[in-house]
Amino acid sequence: KPDDKAQARATPMIAQYIEIKAANADCLLFYRMGDFYELFFEDALTASRALGIMLTKRGKHMGEDIPMCGVPVERANDYLQKLIALGHRVAVCEQIEDPAEAKKRGAKSVVRRDVVRLVTPGTITEDALLDPTRANAFLALARRRAEDGGWRYGLASVDISTGAFTLGECAEAELAAAIARLEPCEIVAAEALCRDASLGAILAASGPPIAPLGRDIGDNDAAARRLMDFYRVATLEGFGALSYSELAAAATAIFYVERTQKESRPALARPLSQRERVTLDIDAATRANLELTRTLSGAREGSLLSVVDMSVTPAGARLMAERLSAPSTDPTLIGARLDAVGFFIARDDLRASLRAMLSRAPDLARALSRLSLQRGGPRDLASVGVALAAARETAQLFAGVEAPREIATEIETFAKADAALASEIARSLKESLPLDRRNGDFIREGRDGELDEARSLRDASRRVIAELQGRYAELTGLKLKIKHNNFLGFFLELSQAQGEKLLRPPFDATFTHRQTMADAMRFSTRELVELEAKIASAADRALARELALFDALVEQVLACAEDLRRLAEAFARLDCFSALAEVAEKRQWTRPLVDASLDFEIVGGRHPVVEASLQTQGKAFAANDCDLDGGRIAVVTGPNMAGKSTYLRQNALIALLAQAGSYVPAQRARIGVVDRLFSRVGASDDLARGRSTFMVEMVETAAILNCATPRSLVILDEIGRGTATFDGLSIAWATIEHLHEVNRSRAIFATHFHELTQLAKRLPRLVNLTMKVTDHAGDVVFLHEVIKGAADRSYGVHVAQLAGLPASVVARSHVILAELEAADRRAPVETLIDDLPLFARLAEAVPPKDALRDALEEIDPDQMTPREALAALYELKKKL
Ligand code: ADP
Repeated sequence: KPDDKAQARATPMIAQYIEIKAANADCLLFYRMGDFYELFFEDALTASRALGIMLTKRGKHMGEDIPMCGVPVERANDYLQKLIALGHRVAVCEQIEDPAEAKKRGAKSVVRRDVVRLVTPGTITEDALLDPTRANAFLALARRRAEDGGWRYGLASVDISTGAFTLGECAEAELAAAIARLEPCEIVAAEALCRDASLGAILAASGPPIAPLGRDIGDNDAAARRLMDFYRVATLEGFGALSYSELAAAATAIFYVERTQKESRPALARPLSQRERVTLDIDAATRANLELTRTLSGAREGSLLSVVDMSVTPAGARLMAERLSAPSTDPTLIGARLDAVGFFIARDDLRASLRAMLSRAPDLARALSRLSLQRGGPRDLASVGVALAAARETAQLFAGVEAPREIATEIETFAKADAALASEIARSLKESLPLDRRNGDFIREGRDGELDEARSLRDASRRVIAELQGRYAELTGLKLKIKHNNFLGFFLELSQAQGEKLLRPPFDATFTHRQTMADAMRFSTRELVELEAKIASAADRALARELALFDALVEQVLACAEDLRRLAEAFARLDCFSALAEVAEKRQWTRPLVDASLDFEIVGGRHPVVEASLQTQGKAFAANDCDLDGGRIAVVTGPNMAGKSTYLRQNALIALLAQAGSYVPAQRARIGVVDRLFSRVGASDDLARGRSTFMVEMVETAAILNCATPRSLVILDEIGRGTATFDGLSIAWATIEHLHEVNRSRAIFATHFHELTQLAKRLPRLVNLTMKVTDHAGDVVFLHEVIKGAADRSYGVHVAQLAGLPASVVARSHVILAELEAADRRAPVETLIDDLPLFARLAEAVPPKDALRDALEEIDPDQMTPREALAALYELKKKL
């Protein structure tokens, strides 16, 4: 609420500012003044700091200077981009009437202004602000009580830049994983919901900025009504079965779209419920650990995506990221997608032509969305035309080709592309186009009679003006120039000395003095003024005509927005398939067999990212097999740096790639579809959330043991490392037993606890694997080869030596190790586990050699004279 008293005492402009700012308190307000967006008060301080621009002041308010800073309208996008990246939200406030109108109302009236749009991280549409290769969605959350009394969370993911709109639903426990999969740029929820403690914690940990909405969207009826109003339908029957939580989330999303886009209505696709979706579940920690779309440090380079993504279009790149983030669990669909990839491997001629054509094709989805928001320019329109033409071209490319189903359906879509619209656009637009439609000059000559006439009138008058300069010079015998500015229009400029002559007869009859500058004088004539008016009116008419033609074309485009969106998706899918074929060929990947069994057999598997990076160093990757058929658990022991983590991850990644419909880095792979992928790898402290490494490890392990099924794939690296050895060993031990007996999942377990290899005697589906290591002239050589069996000894001490620990420490470690190993042989592991604390072993294995203690033990004070006692004391002191 604006402070009434403050407002009453403000100037009219500041009063207007305060009112608009109060209605958009959670945003920085870009207040339009002429060619600038100005920021005042707190906003000015925030923005000048964030943008590194100068802070000035403008007038006073309640006796204090008003801080101000401004950004030129023409460069507003650069500044918006910075602010958005920092998580700010910006309200763009424009002048919504001509300043001349305001003047008519009275000298003191302010130009009417209003916020036309909120720019927030999750709702941007401009190419300059967007990452072409990433989706840019916001996620709207809402919740409803389920029958069992728990909460069901509805998730609506909306990408305004492409129109994509998906819905889903989950329980609170699954929320973090769902958010990680959707990777939103912003999360939106009712304020009351954001204040909920447990939800608040999940949201805060998830990363993106949160936008709390002041209002709730109301009950189910209100939510349904909002959805129907937006889509202008009378019933939601056509939307499929939506749950109440999905409906509420969808309505929240629409509410946010309306709040940020104001009068503009983006062409959003109808929301698609993914509740029945069949995708591989990957929790947030696993997603991060496996570095699917970005590395642990946040970079795209070095992630799985960076190796796999050879797409040539931004939309293809976005789809690729989506496929990797949500691989399928439907063997039929996976098979069909693999067919498509296989087709493009076999037909590399078609692949090359397609990719060449795609790389020239524009980002149709984003152009379309800008056009629907009235934010589009001539180039966006041209993009639609080019895309339509490319679709026809693609259809011809594939004419008569026997393609698998996934490709054939897309080709049908292409064949139906609207050729008339394409040629209409091509016929209308010039070759080189301005970004903005504001200043016209984008419609071809010959397209429209009225436009051509207005233009030639304008240009003819311009020519006459150019001729006038010569004529006036001849008439007066003076050196003069015709110039133009916005204030005077066309005028003549002369030096001061020469100008004086025009003030006197006979010239003063023709030339009217307008302005005297430091060293020049400016004049106009009636002829110039008349020509100016002619030019202006002709130019106005030309511009109005161009804009009308533009609007008509946009209307035609939007009339078939649905078809165009389908076209954009078809392009993205073909790009994805052909890109996967390209990787498969380049990196010699093979087609995996994915079926409904519980098999898991990989022959000659490689880690795609490690292999790629070794390749650039000219090194070879040692391929390894993996067999987890029917719920087998592999326990991998071996020294550090031998390749255990790499092995664990590569098997998970191969399964994931296969289910994403990609060929895989292996000689052969047979995978019974995995429903959930769990990992507990690496130890990253989650200090931000106040949890120790060990706590994080245990929380993640708990999630695995509670949720993994026989269809799941579990990879665990160094469980129990974060605590005392004895604790850690027991936990690791019990975890394996539980996985084997209860979860019955396919699992790989890397550990440095050699004791765990003993479990194979008791658990029938457990196999011991180890990393092959050889001694070469005393040096340890890691072969990175996985073989059956248990590691015969740990090479930790060797690694310590390689790392440069002092020689005395390394030597001492060898001695202690030998003692410990001897002790180990005396006490079989089973009994150790039962009752022998490790500290006791240490005490027993390394008896303290202590002369002082020995001497003390020999002394019997009762048998000593005082003199002897004193002598003994001196003796003892000497032994110190
Ligand atoms: P561990 O988990 O046993 O400590 P890592 O899996 O981290 O070992 O591997 C250590 C390094 O060894 C890796 O960074 C990689 O460069 C190399 N490496 C691992 N596996 C292989 C392999 N199969 N072929 C070649 N080099 C490998």
